[in-house]
Amino acid sequence: MQVKRIGLVAHDGQKRNLTEWVEWNREVLTKYDLVCTGTTGKIIKDALSKCVEKEYFDEHFTILKSGPLGGDQQLGSMIVNGDIQLLIFFWDPMESQPHDVDVKALLRITTMYNVPAACNRSTADFLISSPLLKEEYECKQEDFSAYIHRNI
Ligand code: PGA
Repeated sequence: MQVKRIGLVAHDGQKRNLTEWVEWNREVLTKYDLVCTGTTGKIIKDALSKCVEKEYFDEHFTILKSGPLGGDQQLGSMIVNGDIQLLIFFWDPMESQPHDVDVKALLRITTMYNVPAACNRSTADFLISSPLLKEEYECKQEDFSAYIHRNI
């Protein structure tokens, strides 16, 4: 079975929340590959480094560009390519972001490709404790072809 890859992103106002959640779920999360946007990744790596072997980070932990510098778009592109199987995205409901359009695009692509996504901690708890996480799971893809070129 292909090892699942989990995307992790938090806006600044949610970074503490996500870090706490990651620390709490460290044992389960480190069975998977993790891909984070820049600053989120650095903070999570620091937190996990206290109790996770260095080899894990070398082989299973990827840090992309910072969100405002294109990290959300990189994650979106990985979703399009089928390289992310789960997204934990704690966006901040109280702050607008310089890259709001990228945030919207990431959420749109996640929905479009039917990738399970958690935008708050309780949904993240439900996803991380799902038995489906340990199984082969085929994400059914909706056929959007009817929408394309419909006005031509
Ligand atoms: P960051 O990006 O992890 O580099 O802070 C998060 C985001 O998408 O805003």
